[in-house]
Amino acid sequence: MSDAVRTTCAYCGVGCGIRATVTGERAVRIEGDPDHPANHGRLCSKGTHLGETIGLEGRLLHPMIGDRRASWDKALDLVARRFREAIAEHGPDSVAFYVSGQLLTEDYYVANKLMKGFIGSANIDTNSRLCMSSAVAGHMRAFGEDVVSGSYADLDAADLIVLVGSNTAWCHPVVYQRIMAARAERGTKLVVIDPRRTETAEEADLHLAVRPGSDVALFNGLLAHCRAEGLADAANLDVPAGFWEALGEGHDLWSTAQTCDLVPADLQRFYQLFAAHPRTVTLFSQGINQSIRGTDQVNAILNLHLATGRIGTPGAAPFSITGQPNAMGGREVGGLASTLAAHRGFGAQDIADVGRFWAAERMATRPGLKAVDLFRAVGEGRIKALWIMATNPAVSMPDAGRVREALAACPFVVVSDVIAQTDTSVHAHVRLPAAAWGEKDGTVTNSERTISRQRAFLPLPGEAKPDWWIVSQVARRMGFRTAFPFDRPAEVWREHARLTAYRNGGARMLDLQAKAAIGNQAYDEMAPFSWHPQPFADGRYPTPSGRARLVPVAQRPLDAPLRDWPMTLNTGRYRDQWHTMTRTGLSPRLARHREEPLVEIHPDDAAALALADGALARVATPQGNSLFRVAHHAGQRRGELFTPIHWTDRQSRGGRTGLLARDLADPHSGQPGFKLSPARITPV
Ligand code: SF4
Repeated sequence: MSDAVRTTCAYCGVGCGIRATVTGERAVRIEGDPDHPANHGRLCSKGTHLGETIGLEGRLLHPMIGDRRASWDKALDLVARRFREAIAEHGPDSVAFYVSGQLLTEDYYVANKLMKGFIGSANIDTNSRLCMSSAVAGHMRAFGEDVVSGSYADLDAADLIVLVGSNTAWCHPVVYQRIMAARAERGTKLVVIDPRRTETAEEADLHLAVRPGSDVALFNGLLAHCRAEGLADAANLDVPAGFWEALGEGHDLWSTAQTCDLVPADLQRFYQLFAAHPRTVTLFSQGINQSIRGTDQVNAILNLHLATGRIGTPGAAPFSITGQPNAMGGREVGGLASTLAAHRGFGAQDIADVGRFWAAERMATRPGLKAVDLFRAVGEGRIKALWIMATNPAVSMPDAGRVREALAACPFVVVSDVIAQTDTSVHAHVRLPAAAWGEKDGTVTNSERTISRQRAFLPLPGEAKPDWWIVSQVARRMGFRTAFPFDRPAEVWREHARLTAYRNGGARMLDLQAKAAIGNQAYDEMAPFSWHPQPFADGRYPTPSGRARLVPVAQRPLDAPLRDWPMTLNTGRYRDQWHTMTRTGLSPRLARHREEPLVEIHPDDAAALALADGALARVATPQGNSLFRVAHHAGQRRGELFTPIHWTDRQSRGGRTGLLARDLADPHSGQPGFKLSPARITPV
């Protein structure tokens, strides 16, 4: 038996530390790392059963051109040639990368550098667009930069925790365990704001089953209340003219309760709890972000915390918690089409600085296509070559049926992945075998911006290679040899760390620990460290004035139910599954929690529609339809359905939520509104 290797979990943005001890050929014992600051030894069911998911069943082990095995040289040459030809004939914006929060920071960095500094387009977007880009846009509007303003330690120090749009018990279980521990030790109050009465809501002091889409009204109403009570002021804030006046009308308790479909006494209790506890953390997730009003909803929360001074001190913060293991790392190196690198935007100085640092041959000069628009462009024939890394958009994108048609019609699709056959890779002209969790080395950044090393403890199987290597090889073959000299992930990290400190007066520099970790040995031994232990403690923000901004946001009218689509569809995760189940689906023990995809419906709605508990029903939206097994659930609001996001054609004949969700997106962030699609349900 080998020594334990310190690494991090493959799944969610909590970023738990793991000790992995190899016990045999592709056999490993998994334990929580007691020394990791994210989890202090705790793990949830998904992390605990990671050892059941490291077999080679279904793995892509060799490069494939069509259905034929090919050498790496041949496959890489083909990818480089087809991208070069598309760019030469149609320009740099005719190609695109669609990447993933599953990638390590080093993978992300190299892909971003190739697209934005050498191909000359910003058409690289990530599945993190679907997860937290509204939080990014909200942070930039309020703080001037995408800074996460809370940390897990704030949860320990808070007197009140408000969870908004988050079934934390299922989706970020170790954070939930930490909240429960704080409640047991300190009596921390807990308010859950969620249309559904989830397992998380069951444990709360107060559950507000808010009308979906009315969160701006809720938080504006609370801010108006705080203002009236003398708890909100504009000290050290940039406040646009008319901001407070706009809160003066229609934000009284009764109007807000009506808009949000809440009992006024419950809303008043929430107001009183918030007013009584300066140390409040508002932790928000997909229920806020995955909305066509997501960015405004984020800013309504940030406005409240800024104006009431609940930020920058221990136990007081608005806190966006990310879904994926390395969504944050992607944000830091520019994995979103809307940012450049090292948290820089597309201002002239940023473009010049990053271009000079990279010795770029062709710099992107404007933001690229965000995920929904990117796949629309594929469908319209504007993208001639597309490279998808470590993600399954044929299942996970909204209106996934249209995404499939787009992929089928795209002239050249490359998929680098761990799995041989996915709903996406069936459309690939070239498949490249990528290293999996446990086989690859690099760094990840979790929700609170703790950077940790993810370490290999298994040999690379077959001909699999790390993503940073694959992208670098293609870049070299495209003619950019000197800019992609990387032989080890430590070399990529070193360049990324230097870029964060380049020509910005240290404003975005990784801290001293990161700079010390740029030697190979130091990188190998890097311990987890925090980027920003207490953001905004000095009251200064990265805006031109140094002050945070209050952003005027107004509740938009809520759609009335349509005659043909009388219900609304909400979507989300199950406790023991992850994304499209390519890894968690391998674990028999994880499958026990939910064996098939259910559509949850209030019993009264079910009775009116003659839908028996356990019967099959067809859920339809304007985008498509799919079969689900009916589950009566009194915690559903009337008129609403809930389905899980995980199942694919490979696992089941029904349960295809991606086919149902509409692809409308938030105008600021481009994040699709998965939570609120018009729908109907009928017995079969
Ligand atoms: Fe892994 Fe998230 Fe569970 Fe931690 S909470 S063990 S990171 S899935």
